[in-house]
Amino acid sequence: MRTPQVEPADGLPARVTIYEVGPRDGLQNEKGHVPTPVKVEFVRRLLAAGLTTIETTSFVPQAWVPQLGDAAEVLDALGEDGRGRTRPVLVPNERGLDRALEADVGAIAIFGSATETFAQRNLNRSVDESVTTFAPVVQRARAAGLWVRAYVSMCFGDPWEGEVSVDQVVDVATRLMDLGCDQLALGDTIGTGTTGHVHRLVDALAGKGIGPERLGVHFHDTYGQALANTIAALADGVTVVDASAGGLGGCPYAKSATGNLATEDLVWALHGAGVQTGVDLDALVATSVWMAGVLRRPSPSRVVTALST
Ligand code: MG
Repeated sequence: MRTPQVEPADGLPARVTIYEVGPRDGLQNEKGHVPTPVKVEFVRRLLAAGLTTIETTSFVPQAWVPQLGDAAEVLDALGEDGRGRTRPVLVPNERGLDRALEADVGAIAIFGSATETFAQRNLNRSVDESVTTFAPVVQRARAAGLWVRAYVSMCFGDPWEGEVSVDQVVDVATRLMDLGCDQLALGDTIGTGTTGHVHRLVDALAGKGIGPERLGVHFHDTYGQALANTIAALADGVTVVDASAGGLGGCPYAKSATGNLATEDLVWALHGAGVQTGVDLDALVATSVWMAGVLRRPSPSRVVTALST
C-alpha cells in the first residue's frame, strides 16, 4: 500500500496545517556540512510536495549553530519561495531580527523556555531575561508587518529539572504571547509528554485566553509518544502540527532528544483519519530518501522506511 485506507475519525479537524521544520530544526544539528544548494533544493522539494508552511533557516549567531550560518545565502537563493508569512526564520535577538529584515522575510519565530536550566543552556539567559530580550524583537517585527511565532521549549519535562508544572508553562507562554505573538508552539523538547498532559496544558492555556486556534504543537518521538500526543492535541482543537521531513533533527542541548516527529508518519496518520494536509506523500518520501542519501544515513521515519524498501 502506498496510501492508508481512509476511515474518518471523529472529533478531528477536517484539515491540518503542517509546520515543516526540517530545513531548520532538522538540519541545525547535522555534524557534516550541508551545502547551501542542498538546503535550497530541500525547501523547494518540500514546497513541491505540498507543504505550505516551512521554517526555512535560522538567524542565530553562526558560532551557536554553524550549520545554519548561511541563512542569508539560503534565502537569497530561494527568492520568493523563502518569503512571506508562511516561511518563518528563527530569530534569537534584535541582531537576528536585523539580519532577518535585511533578508526581507515575512515571518519570524522566537524561542523561550519553560524552565530556567534550559533557558540558560539554550539562550544563556534567565527566563525573565529572555522575555525582556524578545520584547523589542516582537514589537519591531510586528511594526514591520511580520507574522510571529513563539516557541516554548521543555513544556512536558526537562532533562535537568525533571517534571515541569503546567502553571509554569502557562506563565512563560502567556508572557511571550502578551508581547504580541501570533502563534504559540508547545515544544516537547525531550519527548516525554503523554496524552493527558497535552489535554491539561491545552485546557490551561485556553483558560488564560490562549485558545487552540493560536497553538501549534511540536512533539518529539523520543519515547514513541509524538503521534499519540498530536492526535490528542487535534482532538482539543489544535490544527497546526510541527513535523520534520524524514524525522530529521533533535536538540543538541537536550540529552537523548533525538527525533522530531517525521512529517511522513504524521501525514500517514492524518490522511488515514480523513484529515487533509495537502501533502503528496510519495513526493515527500522521495525527498527524504534523497536527503538520506545526501546525509549518508537512513531516515528514522517508519513511513519513509516502509515506502522506500
Ligand atoms: Mg524539534
